[in-house]
Amino acid sequence: MIDCYADFHIHIGRTSSYKPVKITASDSLTLSSILDEASNRKGLDMIGIIDCHVPEVIADLENEVRVGNGYELDDGGIRFGDLTLILGSEIEIYDENCKGPIHVLVYLPDLITMKHFSEWLIGRMTNIHLSSQRIYEDAQTLQRKVKELGGLFIPAHIFTPFKSLFGRGVSYSLKEVFDISLIDAVELGLSSNTMMADEIAELHALPFLTNSDAHSTPKIAREYQQLKVKTPSFQEWKKALMNVDERHIVRNYGLDPELGKYFETVCAKCETSVHGRECQTCKGTKLIKGVSNRIKELRSTTTKPMRPEYIHHVPLEYIPGIGPKTLSRLLDHFGNEMNILHRAKEKELATVVSSKIARLINLARNGELTIEKGGGGKYGKVRTEE
Ligand SMILES: [Zn+2]
Ligand SMILES: [Zn+2]
Repeated sequence: MIDCYADFHIHIGRTSSYKPVKITASDSLTLSSILDEASNRKGLDMIGIIDCHVPEVIADLENEVRVGNGYELDDGGIRFGDLTLILGSEIEIYDENCKGPIHVLVYLPDLITMKHFSEWLIGRMTNIHLSSQRIYEDAQTLQRKVKELGGLFIPAHIFTPFKSLFGRGVSYSLKEVFDISLIDAVELGLSSNTMMADEIAELHALPFLTNSDAHSTPKIAREYQQLKVKTPSFQEWKKALMNVDERHIVRNYGLDPELGKYFETVCAKCETSVHGRECQTCKGTKLIKGVSNRIKELRSTTTKPMRPEYIHHVPLEYIPGIGPKTLSRLLDHFGNEMNILHRAKEKELATVVSSKIARLINLARNGELTIEKGGGGKYGKVRTEE
């Protein structure tokens, strides 16, 4: 058994022929730049690319396999060097039960199955060539289709104020929309963590995932998980979610929710944080509700199940003093970010960077940095003074 680091929610900005896939994502977020960043810089072992239903993305992947850059694993997933790519698709649901757009993640074992799924989506989607498109089908029909194909079904970033199940403030239970028995896990999203999500009793039975939802290469692995598996593959990941044959999620590494864009409730007009119903600064009443307040509304239990540890990690790019030059010095020396964040001792770090930065990295990995809270679409910040 091995420990592997995985981030299952990465978008594609452009195909190899430069066609847009995720329009809001960076132009330079292509299949090859993702593979390079995830493997060489971040040091991940497994990634999920979440726009694989797009026919041009499937063609690009088939081409990579044809020319021998990657090969399909018997256990599902495509292997590129040391990295396993899992085929995924993010879909927007808006059926009569959910009263608003909700994002879900679908993962399938191989290219043939993804091709079949893509064809099934064509009749139910306006534009199959783009990311996170709305499906004109109810959620449970989609769930049954995914299960028929041997796939995984995972509601995405469940607390963000837009396009998520709990975040929009209208749904109070997964049951209102989904068949819970056909849900394999839920994705927490950047502004929540295990402790917050476990305030909701119905989530206790479901594994939690922490993924980056990266729209550009630097954001890959800002959240990820450590899995205990035999080898990085689709079926092994599935076993880890089901907790069978000693496969399991070891730890979730997520941003401190206070660093997330939607932690605090803020005024939609002037963006100051608001406690209560009205903004103290401009008297505005249109508020963007933070995840922290939303979870308080949803709270249904005070007991907590046993869970993998949740580490409030701070990605290296958030740490003050680590600019591109310092980061490349660290990478030259330690190989990749997983080595810098998890394997190098503070003393070793201090041979490459100042002792102050080495100390900040160490505080970051222990979740001990001081955070200025984020909200209303603005990220939080790390404070430098200790
Ligand atoms: Zn989404
Ligand atoms: Zn996404």
